Amino acid sequence: MKEHKQIKDWGLGLTGPTIIAGPCSAESPEQIEQICIEMKENNVIPSMFRAGIWKPRTRPGSFEGIGEEGLKWMEIVRHHLNIPITVEVGNAAHAEIALRNNVDVVWVGARTTVNPFAVQEIADALKGTDIPVMVKNPMNPDLDLWIGALERFHAVGLTKLAAIHRGFSDAYDKRYRNKPNWSMPMHLKRVWTGMEVINDPSHIVGKRDGILEISQKAMNFGLDGLMIETHHDPDNAWSDAKQQVTPARLKEILDAIDFKKPLESEQPSERLNDLRRAVDHMDDQLLDILQERFAVIDQIGAHKREHHLPVFQSDRWKDVMESRTQKGVAKNLSEKFMKELLYCIHEESVKRQEKQLREADSVKK
Ligand code: PEP
Ligand code: MN
Repeated sequence: MKEHKQIKDWGLGLTGPTIIAGPCSAESPEQIEQICIEMKENNVIPSMFRAGIWKPRTRPGSFEGIGEEGLKWMEIVRHHLNIPITVEVGNAAHAEIALRNNVDVVWVGARTTVNPFAVQEIADALKGTDIPVMVKNPMNPDLDLWIGALERFHAVGLTKLAAIHRGFSDAYDKRYRNKPNWSMPMHLKRVWTGMEVINDPSHIVGKRDGILEISQKAMNFGLDGLMIETHHDPDNAWSDAKQQVTPARLKEILDAIDFKKPLESEQPSERLNDLRRAVDHMDDQLLDILQERFAVIDQIGAHKREHHLPVFQSDRWKDVMESRTQKGVAKNLSEKFMKELLYCIHEESVKRQEKQLREADSVKK
């Protein structure tokens, strides 16, 4: 897989879970200063300070960001907190302005990740520098678009990369502002080894309540940090007022989270090794059973071929699905898991048998 530098190697002195906090939007020098002061007072100094300078609003007419002027106010953050600054860039011009103003880290927003032209334009504008880039997941749950955006930065020589998981828009599920779809960040971590994913509970939940719960879930799943929108006066924020928390609340949230230690940093204990050996053994047994099951499936396939029966028989399928799901649920396996597992096994069975029919046909011809 493509080599990239992890956050600890970005040269910014960052260690442990990466906590990014700051307002949705930079509004005024006074606002930035007040947030910094309250962070200090509450003894909650994040790893990086975030502020939206250009705001990608879904519909025109609301506050679209203060623009370059806001970047000058980041000096206030350096003065009070002395931490790296990160802002969102949505096009090449933003990227150039961010570079000119010594922004430490840039991020690409969800509405930009969906657009390969815009991502490429930003990558080209940043080429030749070694600025770290964080890529938010696209609005829609398309893992390739997310990976593709990271690859575009990698391809121009930017290797300090990380991803941000901010959830996915969903027309039907209104429990969240953006549905977390936890399998997506996990899958990104599987296919791009070592890629760190920072969770953004603020844009997932869309309101203050629930940020702690999502943050804890992210840590339980093994994600690598949090981006939490923080404002000294959330109710009067110029954007995303409902979801921002005060520095005092940020402190409470961070104190309440049970942060997990990265496994690699620990010698796995004997107990963990034993349990893993047990799982390895059971996986071997599962594979043996599957092998036997498919051998029988092949015999059924031969029978269907002989008797000119189609491979897919909906009554049988319905019965298998219902009875196995019920049995699985009784064994404390979720219905969703049972259905996915059975679809997967059945799909493979049908494909094998159809292949047998085709091979038999070609022998006849
Ligand atoms: C933001 O971080 O304020 C933002 C606009 O996020 P997203 O791109 O996730 O919508
Ligand atoms: Mn926001």
